[in-house]
Amino acid sequence: MTDAAPGKVYLVGSGPGDPDLLTVKAKRLLEEADVVLHDKLPGPEIIGMIPEEKREDVGKRAGGEWTPQEYTNARLVELAEEGNTVVRLKGGDPTVFGRGGEELAHLADNGIPVEIVPGITSAIAGAEAAGIPVTHRDYTSSVSFVTGHEDPTKDESAVDWDALAATGGTLVVLMGVGKLPQYTEALRDAGMDPDTPVALIERATWPDQQVATGTLDTIVSVRDEAGIEPPAITVIGEVAGERERVVEFLEGY
Ligand code: SAH
Repeated sequence: MTDAAPGKVYLVGSGPGDPDLLTVKAKRLLEEADVVLHDKLPGPEIIGMIPEEKREDVGKRAGGEWTPQEYTNARLVELAEEGNTVVRLKGGDPTVFGRGGEELAHLADNGIPVEIVPGITSAIAGAEAAGIPVTHRDYTSSVSFVTGHEDPTKDESAVDWDALAATGGTLVVLMGVGKLPQYTEALRDAGMDPDTPVALIERATWPDQQVATGTLDTIVSVRDEAGIEPPAITVIGEVAGERERVVEFLEGY
């Protein structure tokens, strides 16, 4: 640690991946930062905008292991204490399933000035990129963002799928490719109509975005046939059926 005042850390959301969906502030901070810590989620186009000498990848390491969160936390403090202006760049919005809250607390505990710069979350933009509005006056007046990472058959699952089915609103599941069979079953068991439309959007707004659609009953085989892999969101609800209506007029993605 030096005697100089610490630099500031910005927890910045990159949006879903299209550089045009960066906020003006995110773009400015990427230009001004001394160092940018990122993982893969901002996508190849945005990561490619950052000069190589300023980038540090804190995503998956060679060998497939994740960089431990403790390493990232410690590195942010270290860089700030050296006086650097640091951008911690996260996919989508930094606090939507992004561990932004943990990094914020760690930086505050260590006396580092920190600011959250919101980004456009994939939970909304991912649906929109496929022509799906997350709410719609005709079908749904609520939307829930859920992690699909947990196993709904485990007792300690923090996600109450019965309660989510009962909302009748749109469900957007993040990190939900692998456990798709488990939570679609949990929703059917909770009484959700098996014909409810479901859409999977992989790498939304990236140059190689992929969309696959089906129903609560068919979506697992649709996933397998289309080869959908993370990162992808799952949109469950009547709004997912809207895609079919608008798709031939859709432009952009
Ligand atoms: N903070 C991020 C979410 C981080 S959790 C946000 O606000 O978007 C990681 C999950 O985000 C992925 O498993 C996937 O479900 C979703 N995700 C992030 N970017 C995505 C993209 N471009 N397309 C589809 N899903 C994406």
